[in-house]
Amino acid sequence: MAPLPVYMDYNATTPCDERVLAAMLPFFTQHYGNAASKHHSFGWSAQAAVDIARQQVATLVGATDKEIVFTSGATEAVNLAIKGVAELYAIKGNHIITTAVEHSAVLDTCRYLEKKGIEVTYLPVDASGQINVQELEAAIRPTTILIAAMYANNETGTIFPVKTIGAIAKQHSVLFFTDATQAVGKLPIDVVAEDIDLLALSAHKLYGPKGVGALYIRRRNPRVQLQAQLQGGGHEQGWRSGTLNVPGIVGLGKACSLAAESMQAENERLILLRNRLEQGLLALPETYVNGDKQNRLSHVSNISFRYVPNQALITGVTKHIAVSSGSACASASGQPSHVLLAMGRGNQIARSSLRFSLGRFTTEEEVNTVIELVTATVNTIRSQDMVWQLAQKDELPDAADWKL
Ligand SMILES: *Cc1c(COP(=O)(O)O)cnc(C)c1O
Repeated sequence: MAPLPVYMDYNATTPCDERVLAAMLPFFTQHYGNAASKHHSFGWSAQAAVDIARQQVATLVGATDKEIVFTSGATEAVNLAIKGVAELYAIKGNHIITTAVEHSAVLDTCRYLEKKGIEVTYLPVDASGQINVQELEAAIRPTTILIAAMYANNETGTIFPVKTIGAIAKQHSVLFFTDATQAVGKLPIDVVAEDIDLLALSAHKLYGPKGVGALYIRRRNPRVQLQAQLQGGGHEQGWRSGTLNVPGIVGLGKACSLAAESMQAENERLILLRNRLEQGLLALPETYVNGDKQNRLSHVSNISFRYVPNQALITGVTKHIAVSSGSACASASGQPSHVLLAMGRGNQIARSSLRFSLGRFTTEEEVNTVIELVTATVNTIRSQDMVWQLAQKDELPDAADWKL
């Protein structure tokens, strides 16, 4: 038995890697200069560290250093990208295409813009959480200015056909923004080959610190323009004013260079652990994996436990295992996941699904412990609960709620 509680919520946040922390520490008390101080060595050493980090981030996604703007995280990067395009390209058009399964940072930004007169198309997804690229292309209008589609889904791990989306966007002269927060450091990304114009990422999803992220903004073919969302000292080429979070940026850079080194080996290790987890849990009857089986992040497993009332499931499982039902934000509100609902799942089954996300420090012993504890919890609930008894006899009154 692994020590409890077991952490299997790496998609909510990751622990900061010790090597990342070690790289950051000198920039709190020793090299504490303001990177914008041009006239003394304190400023220069901070600026030099930021330059290195900018290059490390750029390298991981195939960009150049001048195309990286540091932000407070992915949420800010998403807001800057979408609002920045909507405002600056208003003369060209007022239509944005996004998908029904985006993170709330994207969906709420789009809903906010709808109140300001922007028209938004929310593309539906199929049962595996995939969009249809023909449908995407057909949704493009003469007034379309932006396609905002995530790289990989935070709840199911489903990977969108980003390269195809990029090619379609380019062909129609529409900008393409991808929220790649869950994909950066997990999948090889090349903003040039994939025709990505804007890309958001966050340090705390790839073993860096919380509160720092970046937006990639393409400089050539085409040169993307944005309306800045924060006014002030004109830092970051005017895209994002505010004194740079030097320790955080150094940490993000270090996290990116570590990810580049270990990505492949880590994926190979995690896919074995994830498969083991799924094999173990799917031995339970009426248990299903959500997401695209072919195109899925190797460390994510979203599983529906049918006919297990969600309150009992979540209370039982989270006693010893840190997992979430849907995104961290949806769990807080107790709402069924908008991602699983968009995939056609019934209300109850969407609420009785758990997202297991593994990571760098997950062990085989932890996976075994999770299989054991979840299996015991589900079996206990089912043996005591009316829902399971009625479902066995086909007498469940609200059967549609449990639709797969
Ligand atoms: C975590 C997450 C975000 C938000 O990132 P923050 O850095 O916490 O603001 C946005 N999009 C996706 C897909 C995420 O997983």
